[in-house]
Amino acid sequence: MKIGFNKVGSTAIPFEISKENLKFSGMLFKYSRSLIQLEAKITGELLIACDLCAEDSMSPINEDVKFYLSDGIYTDADTHECDIVEVENSMIDLDDILESEIELYKSSYFSCEKCQNK
Ligand SMILES: [Zn+2]
Repeated sequence: MKIGFNKVGSTAIPFEISKENLKFSGMLFKYSRSLIQLEAKITGELLIACDLCAEDSMSPINEDVKFYLSDGIYTDADTHECDIVEVENSMIDLDDILESEIELYKSSYFSCEKCQNK
């Protein structure tokens, strides 16, 4: 699902996409002249490899996601504190955002139930 950067105004645009067993739902709205805020939730379950035994297991996910989107390279140095994702071609690609959130989640530490109960 793609949304044009300049289609987003101060009225929030809700979205919902799903991939495999995950649901990515939330809203987009204009935060400042050059930034759009994304507030969403990722819920469902994801097959993740255990960092201890390397076996895949289904892990429930319930993650709040919040960051800002900039149309192209963000140059306003005043905003340091928040996460800014640069959008290419003025199109917000929600599938792409979900994909990178999943990768981020997979790369963080995870131990399966069996290893946790050892
Ligand atoms: Zn394990």
